[in-house]
Amino acid sequence: MKEVELIDYIKGHRDSISPVQEVQDVALEGSGVRIVMKRDDLIHPVISGNKWRKLRYNLSEAVMQDHHTVLTFGGAFSNHIAATAHACHSAGLDSIGIIRGDELKDDELNVTLRQAKQSGMDLHFVSREAYRRKAEPDFLEELKALHGRFYAVPEGGANGLGVKGCAEILPEVDESYDVVCCAAGTGTTLAGLRLSLPEGKRFLGFPALKGGDFLMDDVERLVAESRLRTVSPSASLELINDYHFGGYAKMTPELWAFTQSFQQRTDIPLDPIYTSKMMFGIYDLIGRGHFSNGTVILAIHTGGLQGWLGMDERRRAAV
Ligand SMILES: *Cc1c(COP(=O)(O)O)cnc(C)c1O
Repeated sequence: MKEVELIDYIKGHRDSISPVQEVQDVALEGSGVRIVMKRDDLIHPVISGNKWRKLRYNLSEAVMQDHHTVLTFGGAFSNHIAATAHACHSAGLDSIGIIRGDELKDDELNVTLRQAKQSGMDLHFVSREAYRRKAEPDFLEELKALHGRFYAVPEGGANGLGVKGCAEILPEVDESYDVVCCAAGTGTTLAGLRLSLPEGKRFLGFPALKGGDFLMDDVERLVAESRLRTVSPSASLELINDYHFGGYAKMTPELWAFTQSFQQRTDIPLDPIYTSKMMFGIYDLIGRGHFSNGTVILAIHTGGLQGWLGMDERRRAAV
């Protein structure tokens, strides 16, 4: 299958560029700032947002290299695991998920893993120590001995081909803007934006993890790995580390309330792990007068709405 055919096949529809939409919000009135949002959450219900961007060239490459199996890594609630399972199923590829935490082996599968399994993903739970070796060539060799030949996609789709897909987000935006804001996990999406960022724009990254400063180096490494040329060599990334809410997958009542009322006002759903924290941060910065009058912010909605399924299940289990 040719690359373009494969991509149409996986997505199930042609020529669908995700829309850019003005965030209509009474809470922004009088702030002097406008927010427009690139709605990559609308790309696909499961292979959503940046997970699609990061998988598209990886899956094409797997097919071109004549692989029948894709192996990847993730935590039990990973949007990347959900997306990879679904995309591989659609593309007629087998998939293997190496899941962090062998203590989960005997538990009932959570909703993310259940759905991955329903898409045909073969799930293997490994200890947290083993999982830490996920990028080591020796570990990949051990996995090959166990599972046979496969195309490996790193955790979160964090490689040069993942970056290449994410470098296609900004060229799809015709609206004018001054600042680009995006949430970050591995920094792959930031690397793609960094490469395609037009001259003269500010560029803010919102890490969902605590202590996200390591992302500076990771973004540079991923930019180099993509071997793509930057549009604006002088552009610099500013990491905003104040909105991780305690760390990865931590949800506080304040963040929950913000996400709910944002959706009520704007009709835009945010995911619980990444975009909710970014939007909270953007509104907080606006409130503190961080942006000058007339600023237009382009917020990237990286998707991830499937994350609510796991979050809701955990909440119900906790009460
Ligand atoms: C995975 C994910 C991210 C993190 O993307 P990176 O490229 O790993 O930084 C951001 N937002 C959403 C919704 C995600 O699912």
